[in-house]
Amino acid sequence: MLENIRIVLVNTSHTGNIGSAARALKTMGLSSLYLVGPLTPPDGKSSALAAGAGDVLANAIIVPTLAEAIADCSLVIGTSARTRTLSWPMLTPRETGIKINEEAQHHKVALVFGRESSGLNNDELRMCDFHTCIEANPEYSSLNLAAAVQTFCYEIRTDFLNRQRQHLPPNKVYDYPLAEDLARFFVHLESTLEKTSFIRKNHPGAVMEKLKRLVNRARPEALELNILRGILASIEKHHDNIQRRSKNKNEE
Ligand code: SAH
Repeated sequence: MLENIRIVLVNTSHTGNIGSAARALKTMGLSSLYLVGPLTPPDGKSSALAAGAGDVLANAIIVPTLAEAIADCSLVIGTSARTRTLSWPMLTPRETGIKINEEAQHHKVALVFGRESSGLNNDELRMCDFHTCIEANPEYSSLNLAAAVQTFCYEIRTDFLNRQRQHLPPNKVYDYPLAEDLARFFVHLESTLEKTSFIRKNHPGAVMEKLKRLVNRARPEALELNILRGILASIEKHHDNIQRRSKNKNEE
Protein backbone atom coordinates (compact mmCIF):
# COMPACT_ATOMS: atom_id res chain seq x y z
CA MET A 1 0.00 0.00 0.00
CA LEU A 2 2.78 2.48 0.94
CA GLU A 3 4.51 1.60 -2.33
CA ASN A 4 1.60 3.14 -4.23
CA ILE A 5 2.22 6.50 -2.55
CA ARG A 6 4.39 8.91 -4.51
CA ILE A 7 5.86 12.16 -3.26
CA VAL A 8 6.47 14.63 -6.09
CA LEU A 9 8.73 17.70 -5.76
CA VAL A 10 8.37 20.32 -8.50
CA ASN A 11 11.38 22.40 -9.65
CA THR A 12 13.24 22.18 -6.37
CA SER A 13 16.06 24.74 -6.19
CA HIS A 14 17.97 23.59 -3.08
CA THR A 15 19.53 20.16 -3.48
CA GLY A 16 19.73 19.84 0.30
CA ASN A 17 15.93 19.90 0.43
CA ILE A 18 15.79 16.91 -1.93
CA GLY A 19 17.98 14.93 0.49
CA SER A 20 15.98 16.03 3.54
CA ALA A 21 12.76 15.07 1.74
CA ALA A 22 14.17 11.60 0.97
CA ARG A 23 14.91 11.21 4.68
CA ALA A 24 11.41 12.38 5.58
CA LEU A 25 9.94 9.70 3.29
CA LYS A 26 12.06 6.85 4.58
CA THR A 27 11.47 7.58 8.26
CA MET A 28 7.74 7.26 7.57
CA GLY A 29 8.05 4.06 5.53
CA LEU A 30 7.63 5.68 2.11
CA SER A 31 10.05 5.21 -0.76
CA SER A 32 8.71 6.63 -4.01
CA LEU A 33 10.17 10.07 -4.76
CA TYR A 34 9.65 11.88 -8.09
CA LEU A 35 11.56 15.04 -8.99
CA VAL A 36 10.06 17.26 -11.68
CA GLY A 37 12.85 19.24 -13.35
CA PRO A 38 14.97 19.98 -10.29
CA LEU A 39 16.96 23.17 -10.95
CA THR A 40 20.09 21.22 -9.94
CA PRO A 41 20.03 17.41 -9.90
CA PRO A 42 20.69 15.67 -6.55
CA ASP A 43 24.31 16.19 -5.44
CA GLY A 44 26.61 15.65 -2.45
CA LYS A 45 24.54 18.02 -0.34
CA SER A 46 21.44 15.94 -1.07
CA SER A 47 23.26 12.74 -0.05
CA ALA A 48 24.56 14.34 3.17
CA LEU A 49 21.07 15.44 4.20
CA ALA A 50 19.45 12.17 3.10
CA ALA A 51 21.75 10.41 5.62
CA GLY A 52 20.46 6.83 5.92
CA ALA A 53 17.90 7.41 3.15
CA GLY A 54 20.45 7.31 0.33
CA ASP A 55 18.47 4.48 -1.29
CA VAL A 56 15.32 6.62 -1.59
CA LEU A 57 17.44 9.40 -3.10
CA ALA A 58 19.24 7.03 -5.50
CA ASN A 59 15.92 5.59 -6.67
CA ALA A 60 14.30 9.02 -7.15
CA ILE A 61 12.82 9.35 -10.62
CA ILE A 62 13.51 12.58 -12.49
CA VAL A 63 10.93 13.66 -15.09
CA PRO A 64 10.60 16.89 -17.08
CA THR A 65 6.93 17.70 -16.38
CA LEU A 66 4.37 17.33 -13.62
CA ALA A 67 2.01 15.67 -16.14
CA GLU A 68 4.52 12.84 -16.56
CA ALA A 69 5.05 12.51 -12.80
CA ILE A 70 1.35 11.95 -12.15
CA ALA A 71 0.23 10.31 -15.44
CA ASP A 72 -0.43 6.85 -13.92
CA CYS A 73 -1.95 8.14 -10.66
CA SER A 74 -5.68 8.09 -9.93
CA LEU A 75 -5.53 10.53 -7.05
CA VAL A 76 -3.42 13.69 -7.06
CA ILE A 77 -3.28 16.03 -4.07
CA GLY A 78 -1.46 19.37 -4.26
CA THR A 79 0.04 21.07 -1.20
CA SER A 80 0.01 24.80 -0.80
CA ALA A 81 1.04 27.24 1.91
CA ARG A 82 -1.85 29.46 0.86
CA THR A 83 -5.46 28.35 1.12
CA ARG A 84 -8.09 28.70 -1.50
CA THR A 85 -6.34 30.56 -4.29
CA LEU A 86 -8.46 28.50 -6.72
CA SER A 87 -11.26 27.44 -4.34
CA TRP A 88 -10.62 23.77 -5.11
CA PRO A 89 -11.85 21.00 -2.78
CA MET A 90 -9.66 21.27 0.33
CA LEU A 91 -8.46 18.60 2.76
CA THR A 92 -6.72 19.08 6.09
CA PRO A 93 -3.37 17.27 6.45
CA ARG A 94 -5.15 14.62 8.57
CA GLU A 95 -7.83 14.08 5.94
CA THR A 96 -5.04 13.93 3.36
CA GLY A 97 -3.39 11.05 5.24
CA ILE A 98 -6.70 9.19 5.41
CA LYS A 99 -7.65 9.77 1.76
CA ILE A 100 -4.21 8.70 0.55
CA ASN A 101 -4.33 5.45 2.54
CA GLU A 102 -7.88 4.72 1.35
CA GLU A 103 -6.97 5.04 -2.30
CA ALA A 104 -3.42 3.69 -2.21
CA GLN A 105 -4.94 0.27 -1.45
CA HIS A 106 -6.01 0.04 -5.09
CA HIS A 107 -4.36 2.85 -7.07
CA LYS A 108 -1.24 4.95 -7.36
CA VAL A 109 -1.55 8.29 -5.62
CA ALA A 110 0.62 11.42 -5.73
CA LEU A 111 1.19 14.17 -3.20
CA VAL A 112 2.72 17.18 -4.94
CA PHE A 113 4.97 19.87 -3.43
CA GLY A 114 5.94 23.20 -4.99
CA ARG A 115 9.01 25.35 -5.45
CA GLU A 116 10.74 26.87 -2.44
CA SER A 117 10.36 30.33 -3.95
CA SER A 118 6.83 30.35 -5.30
CA GLY A 119 5.06 27.04 -4.56
CA LEU A 120 2.90 25.41 -7.25
CA ASN A 121 1.47 27.62 -10.00
CA ASN A 122 -2.24 27.68 -10.85
CA ASP A 123 -1.88 25.35 -13.85
CA GLU A 124 -0.20 22.78 -11.61
CA LEU A 125 -2.79 23.22 -8.87
CA ARG A 126 -5.55 22.65 -11.47
CA MET A 127 -4.02 19.25 -12.25
CA CYS A 128 -4.81 18.08 -8.70
CA ASP A 129 -8.02 16.47 -7.42
CA PHE A 130 -7.69 18.11 -4.00
CA HIS A 131 -5.59 20.77 -2.32
CA THR A 132 -4.25 20.60 1.20
CA CYS A 133 -2.69 23.14 3.50
CA ILE A 134 -1.02 23.03 6.89
CA GLU A 135 -2.82 25.77 8.76
CA ALA A 136 0.28 27.40 10.11
CA ASN A 137 0.83 30.82 11.66
CA PRO A 138 -1.16 33.17 9.39
CA GLU A 139 1.62 35.74 9.69
CA TYR A 140 4.25 33.23 8.50
CA SER A 141 2.70 30.10 7.05
CA SER A 142 5.37 28.89 4.64
CA LEU A 143 7.21 25.85 5.98
CA ASN A 144 10.56 24.71 4.66
CA LEU A 145 9.84 22.28 1.79
CA ALA A 146 11.29 19.21 3.54
CA ALA A 147 9.52 20.13 6.79
CA ALA A 148 6.23 20.22 4.88
CA VAL A 149 7.03 16.83 3.30
CA GLN A 150 7.77 15.43 6.78
CA THR A 151 4.49 16.72 8.19
CA PHE A 152 2.39 15.10 5.46
CA CYS A 153 4.37 11.85 5.49
CA TYR A 154 3.75 11.65 9.24
CA GLU A 155 0.00 12.01 8.69
CA ILE A 156 0.13 9.26 6.07
CA ARG A 157 2.00 6.99 8.50
CA THR A 158 -0.33 7.75 11.40
CA ASP A 159 -3.39 6.70 9.41
CA PHE A 160 -1.53 3.68 7.99
CA LEU A 161 -0.72 2.46 11.52
CA ASN A 162 -4.28 3.13 12.73
CA ARG A 163 -5.62 0.93 9.95
CA GLN A 164 -3.21 -1.87 10.83
CA ARG A 165 -3.91 -1.70 14.57
CA GLN A 166 -7.66 -1.61 14.12
CA HIS A 167 -7.58 -4.30 11.41
CA LEU A 168 -9.76 -2.04 9.26
CA PRO A 169 -11.23 -3.84 6.25
CA PRO A 170 -10.04 -2.69 2.83
CA ASN A 171 -11.96 0.17 1.22
CA LYS A 172 -14.36 -0.30 -1.67
CA VAL A 173 -12.61 -0.33 -5.02
CA TYR A 174 -13.49 2.57 -7.30
CA ASP A 175 -12.24 2.44 -10.86
CA TYR A 176 -10.99 6.02 -11.00
CA PRO A 177 -9.38 7.07 -14.28
CA LEU A 178 -5.66 7.88 -14.44
CA ALA A 179 -4.57 11.52 -14.39
CA GLU A 180 -3.49 11.22 -18.04
CA ASP A 181 -6.97 10.02 -19.09
CA LEU A 182 -8.59 12.89 -17.22
CA ALA A 183 -6.18 15.35 -18.88
CA ARG A 184 -7.12 13.91 -22.30
CA PHE A 185 -10.81 14.28 -21.45
CA PHE A 186 -10.36 17.99 -20.66
CA VAL A 187 -8.55 18.57 -23.99
CA HIS A 188 -11.45 16.81 -25.75
CA LEU A 189 -14.04 18.84 -23.80
CA GLU A 190 -12.31 22.13 -24.60
CA SER A 191 -12.00 21.34 -28.32
CA THR A 192 -15.67 20.29 -28.53
CA LEU A 193 -16.82 23.46 -26.77
CA GLU A 194 -14.71 25.49 -29.20
CA LYS A 195 -16.31 23.71 -32.16
CA THR A 196 -19.80 24.48 -30.95
CA SER A 197 -18.68 28.06 -30.14
CA PHE A 198 -19.65 27.64 -26.51
CA ILE A 199 -16.19 28.99 -25.73
CA ARG A 200 -13.91 30.98 -28.00
CA LYS A 201 -10.62 29.46 -29.11
CA ASN A 202 -7.72 30.74 -26.99
CA HIS A 203 -10.27 32.45 -24.73
CA PRO A 204 -11.66 29.63 -22.61
CA GLY A 205 -12.21 32.22 -19.86
CA ALA A 206 -13.26 30.96 -16.47
CA VAL A 207 -15.55 28.32 -17.98
CA MET A 208 -12.92 25.59 -18.43
CA GLU A 209 -11.65 26.13 -14.90
CA LYS A 210 -15.17 25.86 -13.49
CA LEU A 211 -15.83 22.71 -15.53
CA LYS A 212 -12.56 21.19 -14.33
CA ARG A 213 -13.54 21.90 -10.77
CA LEU A 214 -16.97 20.37 -11.32
CA VAL A 215 -15.59 17.17 -12.86
CA ASN A 216 -12.85 16.88 -10.24
CA ARG A 217 -15.41 17.28 -7.48
CA ALA A 218 -17.56 14.52 -8.97
CA ARG A 219 -14.52 12.19 -9.32
CA PRO A 220 -16.05 10.17 -12.17
CA GLU A 221 -15.04 6.55 -12.53
CA ALA A 222 -13.38 5.35 -15.74
CA LEU A 223 -16.66 4.07 -17.21
CA GLU A 224 -18.44 7.33 -16.46
CA LEU A 225 -15.61 9.29 -18.07
CA ASN A 226 -15.96 7.09 -21.16
CA ILE A 227 -19.66 7.96 -21.33
CA LEU A 228 -18.81 11.67 -21.14
CA ARG A 229 -16.26 11.21 -23.95
CA GLY A 230 -18.88 9.36 -25.97
CA ILE A 231 -21.25 12.32 -25.51
CA LEU A 232 -18.55 14.69 -26.73
CA ALA A 233 -17.89 12.49 -29.76
CA SER A 234 -21.63 12.44 -30.59
CA ILE A 235 -21.82 16.25 -30.34
CA GLU A 236 -18.81 16.56 -32.66
CA LYS A 237 -20.35 14.14 -35.15
CA HIS A 238 -23.68 15.97 -35.11
CA HIS A 239 -21.91 19.32 -35.50
CA ASP A 240 -19.83 18.03 -38.43
CA ASN A 241 -22.97 16.64 -40.12
CA ILE A 242 -24.78 19.97 -39.83
CA GLN A 243 -21.78 21.81 -41.23
CA ARG A 244 -21.46 19.36 -44.11
CA ARG A 245 -25.16 19.69 -44.91
CA SER A 246 -25.09 23.49 -44.94
CA LYS A 247 -21.93 23.43 -47.09
CA ASN A 248 -23.66 21.12 -49.61
CA LYS A 249 -26.70 23.39 -49.64
CA ASN A 250 -24.53 26.42 -50.36
CA GLU A 251 -22.87 24.62 -53.23
CA GLU A 252 -26.19 23.59 -54.80
N1 SAH B 1 6.56 30.90 -0.98
C1 SAH B 1 5.79 29.79 -1.37
C2 SAH B 1 5.94 28.65 -0.36
C3 SAH B 1 6.81 27.65 -0.85
S1 SAH B 1 7.27 26.51 0.38
C4 SAH B 1 4.32 30.12 -1.47
O1 SAH B 1 3.93 31.16 -0.99
O2 SAH B 1 3.56 29.32 -2.00
C5 SAH B 1 7.58 25.11 -0.65
C6 SAH B 1 6.49 24.08 -0.65
O3 SAH B 1 6.37 23.50 0.66
C7 SAH B 1 5.10 24.56 -1.01
O4 SAH B 1 4.92 24.69 -2.40
C8 SAH B 1 4.27 23.44 -0.43
O5 SAH B 1 4.35 22.33 -1.27
C9 SAH B 1 5.01 23.13 0.87
N2 SAH B 1 4.49 23.93 2.00
C10 SAH B 1 5.11 24.90 2.68
N3 SAH B 1 4.31 25.39 3.64
C11 SAH B 1 3.15 24.70 3.58
C12 SAH B 1 1.92 24.75 4.30
N4 SAH B 1 1.70 25.61 5.28
N5 SAH B 1 0.95 23.89 3.93
C13 SAH B 1 1.13 23.00 2.93
N6 SAH B 1 2.27 22.92 2.21
C14 SAH B 1 3.27 23.76 2.53
